Amino acid sequence: MKETYIELNSSTYTIKRKKRMLLDKLLKDSLQHYKSLFACDSDAIYAMDLDGYFIPLNPACEILFGYPSMEFSKLTYMKVMTLEHLDRALSLFYKSLEGKLQNFDCQIIQKIGELRDLNITNYPIVINDDIVGVYGIAKDITEIKQKRKKLRENEALYQLLMENSLDLITKSTPNGEFLYVSSYSKEIIGFTPDELIGKSVKELIHLDDLNDYENNKEIVSSGHGNGRITFRLKHCNGHYIWVEALCKPILNDQNVVSEIISVIRDVTEKKRTEALLLQSEKLSVAGQLAAGIAHEIRNPLTAIKGFLQLIEAEQDTQKTYFDIINSEMNRIELILGELLILSKPHALKFEKKNIKQIFDQVKALIDTQAIMNNIEVEITYLSNLQTLLCDENQLKQVFINILKNSIEAMHNGGKITVEVDTTESNQMQIRFIDQGCGITEENLQRIGQPFFTTKEKGTGLGLMISMKIIEKHNGTIHISSENNGTKIEVTLPLTR
Ligand code: ADP
Ligand code: MG
Repeated sequence: MKETYIELNSSTYTIKRKKRMLLDKLLKDSLQHYKSLFACDSDAIYAMDLDGYFIPLNPACEILFGYPSMEFSKLTYMKVMTLEHLDRALSLFYKSLEGKLQNFDCQIIQKIGELRDLNITNYPIVINDDIVGVYGIAKDITEIKQKRKKLRENEALYQLLMENSLDLITKSTPNGEFLYVSSYSKEIIGFTPDELIGKSVKELIHLDDLNDYENNKEIVSSGHGNGRITFRLKHCNGHYIWVEALCKPILNDQNVVSEIISVIRDVTEKKRTEALLLQSEKLSVAGQLAAGIAHEIRNPLTAIKGFLQLIEAEQDTQKTYFDIINSEMNRIELILGELLILSKPHALKFEKKNIKQIFDQVKALIDTQAIMNNIEVEITYLSNLQTLLCDENQLKQVFINILKNSIEAMHNGGKITVEVDTTESNQMQIRFIDQGCGITEENLQRIGQPFFTTKEKGTGLGLMISMKIIEKHNGTIHISSENNGTKIEVTLPLTR
């Protein structure tokens, strides 16, 4: 029994030796053909004999496994594989000896102790129907693995951020259909992400805001502008909430927008505060004007009272008296009407209006205060009569705010010039030029910040509100100043 075992053993040994010789010969022959081809490959190409010993076939083996060629050919998987990959690598090696191609990821330890991730492919080497060894190709995937890991970590981080953000984060098709919705949707509009995915955001947008939404979509898709938009979204209870969305397009390989990522914030409260501020500033302007207006109304009333007494006494001159009474009454009516409009809250209403009409009414309101301060307000029209698409009352408020500031800056009286002009780019430009105390460089920076005022009884809201209103009209305000006065340029789009 023992003898046969030794015999068998020695015969296995002989077979293995024979096969190894065959393998060496084959490699020697084929290497002659393929050496230059293998040489520049960055993947390690090697063979393994039936006992699993490496036979390096290109220089990349030294670099990848980190052993000089002579040393490498004395090694097997046992030496190079990390413990946790060894079992699997060995069993796959034996499978390839059964004639099956194998591909697997594993980790090795280089001679200097460094770990590398490899992707290995094993092919059986067959000579005359006999498997004499295995070809191996090892690809270094350490960096790819690290990148994948980083990507997975980033993904987990983004997921965490998105799911815990106090903004609603969505991913949608360019057409607005939700692909992903963060769980904050439940808080903000009452719908769960599952209820929203597959639906279009357009089903939730207020009808009046759809146009703005479509325009913004164009801007986002074309890659122009920052895609910031404010609109109303329908809550599951039926009411609407104001949101501000920042939208970014994601481009595919063909540079076409494939998805849009939006960060949506509830701004209902902010909107309410803005409306309150606007209203309180209006009331304060109205209140300040009221003093002047009371004075103005007293004049016609005195006249009316006087003429009524005269009518009682003299019957003949009745006609002239009545004319004057009528015109004074009209003036009272006009001023009271303006004052009422200014102090009444109202919804934004954009209409085509003529700038001259607006200024006629502004002048009627502001003149009292101007005259009391020995100031003349002159309005000149440098181009033909112009029409604006605007909310008339809001624009009036802007002009009154600007003119009041000028009056308040002109302690010694003087002249305020208002020039209504057209710019080269065909926009309306209104220039307010005063002879007041001017604004210092330092204060100029702060103008428009809420509550910035240099006046004892100032609110510091006038210019901020004015800028907001002009912004809503797609216009701009530019302020420049020197010691001898201030120039404020309001530029607004024209309507044909
Ligand atoms: P308020 O008039 O209540 O102070 P505003 O926002 O209207 O608030 O103006 C802010 C500040 O800007 C004023 O306090 C003043 O210092 C300065 N300012 C605005 N317009 C003028 C002007 N035409 N001339 C000089 N200073 C001005
Ligand atoms: Mg002011």
